[in-house]
Amino acid sequence: MDNSRRHALPAYVVLPTSHEQVQRVVALCHQQRIPLVARGRGTGTTGASVPIHGGVVLSSERMNRILSIDPANRVMVVEPGVTNQEVQDAAAAHGFFWPPDPTSAAFCSIGGNLAYNSAGPRAVKYGTPRENTLGLRAVTGTGEAIRTGVYTSKGVVGYDLTRLLIGSEGTLAVITEATLRLTPLPAAKRTLQAVYRDMHTAAAAVSRIMAQPVIPCALEFIDARAIEMIRNYSQAKLPQQAGALLMIEVDGSPASLEEAVQAVSQAAAGEGLLDLAIAQSQQEVDALWATRKALSPALRTIAPKKINEDVVVPVSHMAELIDGLEQLARRHGITIVNFGHAGNGNIHVNLLINPDDPLQMHAAEHCLDEVFDLVLCLRGTLSGEHGVGMEKQAFVGREIDPATLALMRQIKQVFDPHNILNPDKMFPLI
Ligand SMILES: Cc1cc2nc3c(=O)[nH]c(=O)nc-3n(C[C@H](O)[C@H](O)[C@H](O)COP(=O)(O)OP(=O)(O)OC[C@H]3O[C@@H](n4cnc5c(N)ncnc54)[C@H](O)[C@@H]3O)c2cc1C
Repeated sequence: MDNSRRHALPAYVVLPTSHEQVQRVVALCHQQRIPLVARGRGTGTTGASVPIHGGVVLSSERMNRILSIDPANRVMVVEPGVTNQEVQDAAAAHGFFWPPDPTSAAFCSIGGNLAYNSAGPRAVKYGTPRENTLGLRAVTGTGEAIRTGVYTSKGVVGYDLTRLLIGSEGTLAVITEATLRLTPLPAAKRTLQAVYRDMHTAAAAVSRIMAQPVIPCALEFIDARAIEMIRNYSQAKLPQQAGALLMIEVDGSPASLEEAVQAVSQAAAGEGLLDLAIAQSQQEVDALWATRKALSPALRTIAPKKINEDVVVPVSHMAELIDGLEQLARRHGITIVNFGHAGNGNIHVNLLINPDDPLQMHAAEHCLDEVFDLVLCLRGTLSGEHGVGMEKQAFVGREIDPATLALMRQIKQVFDPHNILNPDKMFPLI
């Protein structure tokens, strides 16, 4: 199982400790046509690591070594079973970090991060695994060992198979080693909280912030419904008329930060701004983030079951998306709570539902269908970081045209001619 709560029982679980062992297992599965699903820590939310056809689950749990850290070249080489947090800790000891920062960092594996292209708030400034991985070692569906990418900060020889494997959800190859690009830790950081009258004025502020030269290292938002929940379920203090909230962080050298805070504050100011708080101490930073952090426990209390999507639209279309979502919520009689990574236009759309109410489940299905149409109309994409897995595969054909999908299926065929690697995931079933 994974965090989608889908279950399936594999026939075998293998726990290799080396690239060579992975190669032997995959070659055997290829020969015997046995399905094989690579697994990190099973924290994925879309069912991609669930072995729906039985077969072999190949867990990377015992391939958890950091193979080298090379500060001069800003590179770290790791096995796929290392957790994101272990990478951060090892990099920090040398004054670096690896930018992808999913909230699940303490539990999730680098293999899973790469296979889903997972990220977090820092992506707005520092990018996702695709922008922070130089190369991979992997085993294709035939048991062939391959190396992709480079060990250098530039390189243009051959096709970019690194970016192809990243985000491929274990359908093309099993990753056995990753060469990660490290970034120096910023010397200092400042935290701001901006409260707006409504989502329109907050979204306009996001567009203004992203249009000026200082890129925040976090630009998160929560909508009016989410604020309402926080009010009822936490001690967080917010102005009465608050209709949207932005959490903004800037980082850099201490000398540059004052200017950065000023630039971002100026962009944040404008119509609809009710309050702009700039934290002056760690205690104040914690207090500002407490508002945002109260949301998950509040959501869990109110709606233990929810449908959680992670759609993306261009930042300039965020207000239209939120308006559209409000209309859909009203029309289908479903409560929708939105929050997310505003700087990337990556919105976590939460449909709060009672799974024991068949009428509500039916309404949610229709609502979700229209949510995806709306997102695509706004030139968006169905998922920013959670991937497709099984949850969204039926909708992929709406985003990707038939010719491009056919080419992708041919690529899968080349990497994995017997279709043993994570079969029937990611693409619409035929
Ligand atoms: C509380 C919580 C918070 C979360 N927060 C975030 C967040 O902020 N941002 C975010 O993006 N996600 C988030 N997630 C989702 C999840 O943590 C990420 O998708 C994570 O990257 C999954 O890693 P994993 O090791 O658990 O992978 P798994 O779930 O085990 O696998 C995910 C995919 O990776 C493939 N895979 C795993 N290892 C390999 C390998 N070696 N080679 C090839 N394919 C492989 C699997 O086949 C599967 O397709 C959250 C989840 C939870 C439960």
